[in-house]
Amino acid sequence: MTDQPILDLHTHSNRSDGLDTPAYLMSRAKQLGVDLIGLADHDTTDGWAEAMKAAKELELGFLPAIEISTHAVLPNKRRISVHILAYRPNPNHPRLVAELAKTRESRVSRAKRMVELIAEDYPISWEEITDHIRPGSTVGRPAIADALARAGIVKDRSAAFDTILHKSSAYYISEHSLSTIEAIELAIDAGAAPVIAHPLMDFPAGKSTADLPDAHFKEMVEAGLAGLEVYHRQVPQAAQEWLLQFAKAHDLFTTGSSDYHGVGGKVNELGENSTSVENFRALIAKSNGTDYYLPEGLDWL
Ligand code: AMP
Ligand code: FE
Ligand code: FE
Ligand code: ZN
Repeated sequence: MTDQPILDLHTHSNRSDGLDTPAYLMSRAKQLGVDLIGLADHDTTDGWAEAMKAAKELELGFLPAIEISTHAVLPNKRRISVHILAYRPNPNHPRLVAELAKTRESRVSRAKRMVELIAEDYPISWEEITDHIRPGSTVGRPAIADALARAGIVKDRSAAFDTILHKSSAYYISEHSLSTIEAIELAIDAGAAPVIAHPLMDFPAGKSTADLPDAHFKEMVEAGLAGLEVYHRQVPQAAQEWLLQFAKAHDLFTTGSSDYHGVGGKVNELGENSTSVENFRALIAKSNGTDYYLPEGLDWL
């Protein structure tokens, strides 16, 4: 084993908006030389069992996680959507189970409503979408994007997100979610280490760091935020520098991940970012809601 293993802590399977089954994702990670995978499907723990089984067969590290849909209202009254990664939550924690179910259900009604609106102008239908996703998986805009691409209305997922599915589009509707603070507190109650996924990814290049929502970050730290996903392809360089300083000042660990969604799901490739051993250990020390798995070759971690 090398001194610096590749620890990719944030990926998606077809239990949410990724394209690979959990088992296939794990075998692909093994082929690519990744040492440990965190599976963080949106608002569901459904893929964990299959990923854990594959990890043990392949002798690959596995870290169970979820990516929780949350929101915050900033002092300027802007409502932003924030994704919170919860590492090693107890998957049977009653309130967590109930909240995740509520968010998933709201994602279905929201997606249905968006499809109704889009269908007034483009030839797509709800049935066409459900025919192509795994029953019970967390529905998101990517499923609508795929339908638009199949109908030849857009070229691919990205083109759909740039136009019809964009947040500023007239077809866009947001799902019900917990606030960032509620989600952080709930994650901690379930034994998880809460981490902000791809923080500040919408931070415009060239904007002053004085415009960053410093107060909101401090509130999240007070609620028990444990880490920041700094190394992610969508976190701009200026934001990464600010986040590293912030992490240092508030004793947060920092992670690096791909946010892989399958080949063709997003350009993000498995293992393109990694978390350092030191930061991985800090994450493990702050979470105890469920077991993770390290193969023999990684047990020194
Ligand atoms: P939703 O959660 O339904 O609002 O959809 C957001 C999800 O869409 C994110 O979690 C990403 O996985 C995915 N996504 C966002 N932008 C893109 C893009 N340009 N191409 C592919 N997938 C995207
Ligand atoms: Fe996603
Ligand atoms: Fe996300
Ligand atoms: Zn993600």
